[in-house]
Amino acid sequence: MTPPGPDARPPIRRLDPATVERIAAGEVVERPASVVKELVENAIDAEAGTITIRIEEGGLERLEVADDGFGIPSDELELAVARHATSKIPPDGPIDRIGSLGFRGEALAAIASVARLRLASRPPDREAAEGLSVVGGEIVGRFTAPRAPGTTVEVEDLFFNTPARRKFLKSPPAEQVELMQAVERLYLAAPRVALRIEAEGREIANYPPASDLRDAAARVLGPEILRASFALTGEVPGGRVRGVIGRPAISAASSRGLYLAVNGRSIASRPIAQAVRAAFGDYLPRTRFPVGVVHLELAPEAVDVNVHPTKREVRFVRERELSEAIRRRVREGLLAAPQVADLAERTGLAPAGPRDGARPASPAPGTPPGVVARAVPVQRRLGSGTELPAPTGVPAATGHPGLSLLGCLDELYWVAVSGDDLVLIDQHAASERVLYERLRRSGSLARQELVDPIVVRLAGAQRSALDAHAEEVRSAGFEIEPFGPDEHRVRAVPTFRGRRAPAAAVAELLDELSEGGRPTVPDGLAERTTATIACHAAIRAGDPVAREEFAGVLAALYALPEAAYACPHGRPILLRIPRSRLDRWFLRSGT
Ligand code: ADP
Ligand code: MG
Repeated sequence: MTPPGPDARPPIRRLDPATVERIAAGEVVERPASVVKELVENAIDAEAGTITIRIEEGGLERLEVADDGFGIPSDELELAVARHATSKIPPDGPIDRIGSLGFRGEALAAIASVARLRLASRPPDREAAEGLSVVGGEIVGRFTAPRAPGTTVEVEDLFFNTPARRKFLKSPPAEQVELMQAVERLYLAAPRVALRIEAEGREIANYPPASDLRDAAARVLGPEILRASFALTGEVPGGRVRGVIGRPAISAASSRGLYLAVNGRSIASRPIAQAVRAAFGDYLPRTRFPVGVVHLELAPEAVDVNVHPTKREVRFVRERELSEAIRRRVREGLLAAPQVADLAERTGLAPAGPRDGARPASPAPGTPPGVVARAVPVQRRLGSGTELPAPTGVPAATGHPGLSLLGCLDELYWVAVSGDDLVLIDQHAASERVLYERLRRSGSLARQELVDPIVVRLAGAQRSALDAHAEEVRSAGFEIEPFGPDEHRVRAVPTFRGRRAPAAAVAELLDELSEGGRPTVPDGLAERTTATIACHAAIRAGDPVAREEFAGVLAALYALPEAAYACPHGRPILLRIPRSRLDRWFLRSGT
C-alpha cells in the first residue's frame, strides 16, 4: 500500500464570512419556533406591552413578530442585523450579570443569514418606520413604511439557502405546534406581556397580560389548575422561588407541562424538573409528571445563562442546594394543601387532567351512585334507630371522623360511612400506602429464600444499576447473583403478609434505581425503591380480605402522621361523597 500523497489532504483555509455566518446560525435557528423565540425575546427586551405573531404554513412560508416596544433608530438598523452587535451590554460592561434576555447580538444576524428578512422599526419620536431588507445575510434594500411605534420583523423562506437544514423541519402543522409551545413557554416566563398568535390570518391563541401566575398558568394549562393547585413560595440559595403547581390529580403524561423560568427567561433544567417531581415522589405514579409554573428570581451572579447560544440551558452556581431547596418547598406546598379526598369533597369527584384526561384510577366525573347501591345492602337505618348488622368500625383519628365499613365491591372497593358522608376506598391503594409507610420507617424488608432460584435476564442499564446500588437492592429484600453473561439468578425475594414479590420485580426496581438515583434527589431513591416493593407486596385488587383485616389497614392509614390520601404511586385511596351530593343526585336538594 502506498502512503497517501500530498494531494490527498485538502489544505486548511479560513472560511469565508458567509459560511461562518450560516454555520453559526445553525446554533440559534433550528426551526420557526426558535426564530419566534428570539424575536419575541427581543420585543420583551424592548419593553413591549403587546406582541403579535403572524405565521403562514407553520412559519415555514412566512412569520412575523410585531411589537409596540421602544424601537430601533434608523441609523442602527444595519448594526441590528450585524453579528456580535448588541445594545444590551454597555462598553466594558460585565457579561455575568445580564438583566436582558438577549446580549449575544447574534439572533437577527443568524436569522437574516438563512432567510429573507425585513426589519422595520419606528421609535416613538419618529413619524414612520424605516426598514431594511436582508436576503441570506446581504442587505438588499431600505424602505420607509407607515407604522405605529414599535418594531416588526418578517421572516420568509427559512433555510432557503441551507437545504440540509430544511430536511430536518417537520410538516407545517407540526412546526406550528412547536411554535405555539415556544410562545407558551415565553408567556409563562414573563406573563406581564400580552402575546397573540395568528395563523393564516386567523387568531389561534391569545394570552392576555397576567399579574397573577395562577391566571397565566390557567391560560396555558387549563382552568383545572385554579382549583387543583398549590402555591410555591420561599427562599432558595441565591434568591427566591415562586410558582403554582398542579395537585397530583392533574398531572401530565410527560414532563412538558412543567414550565421553568429564571429571572423572566424560560429555561430547561433537568435537575430542577427532577427536584419538583421528586417532591411528589409517592404522590405521583411513575408514569405521570407534575404540571405547573416555577419562577426563580436569582441574583444574576447565581446563574450563568451563557452556556448555550439559545440560552435555554443555564448553569446554577449551587445547583444541588438549589434543587434540594426547591424539592423541599414543593413538598411543603403539596402537604400543606388539601389532599385528594378533600378535593373530591369540594368538587364532587376527582377532577380530570388538564389535557390528557382522567388519571387511570380516578372515577369519571358524575359517576352515578348506582354502584354504591349495589354494594350496600346491609346498612339501613330503621325508624327506631336500630341498625342491621353492625358494620366494622375504624376508630376516629386526629383530623378524621371514624369510618364504618359496610362491605366490599368486587374485592376491590370498600364502601363505608363516615359521619354524613359516603366513602369509597380502593383496597390496593390503601394497603400499598400503609405498607409503604411501614417500609419507609423500618428500612428493610423480610426476605424469603427461593428453593428454586429464578433466572432473570437484565438489560445493560439494569446491570449497571445493580452494580451501583447493590446495597439498596439487598435491603429491599432481593438476593441476586450473576448467572452467565447477561443473566442473573434471584435467590431471595422480599415478602410481606406471607406473600412473595415476584422475581421480575427486581428488574422494575433496577429501572427505578437507574432513573431515580440522581444525586440531586436525595430522598427520591429510597422512596421509589420502597414504593415499588410496597406495590408488589400490598393487598391487590381481587384479593379476598376480611373486614377486620381491612379495618386494621384503615386504622393504620388514619394513624399516619402525614395525611395520606394517595397511594405511593399517586392514585387516590379514598373518595368521599358528601351527603349533600347524594341529595342532589336523588333530587332532594332544598329539602
Ligand atoms: P441581542 O438581542 O442579543 O442584542 P439581536 O441580534 O437579537 O441581539 O438584536 C440585535 C439588537 O437589535 C438588539 O441589541 C436591539 O438593540 C435591537 N433589536 C432587535 N429587535 C428589537 C426590537 N424588537 N425592538 C427594539 N430593538 C430591537
Ligand atoms: Mg436578541
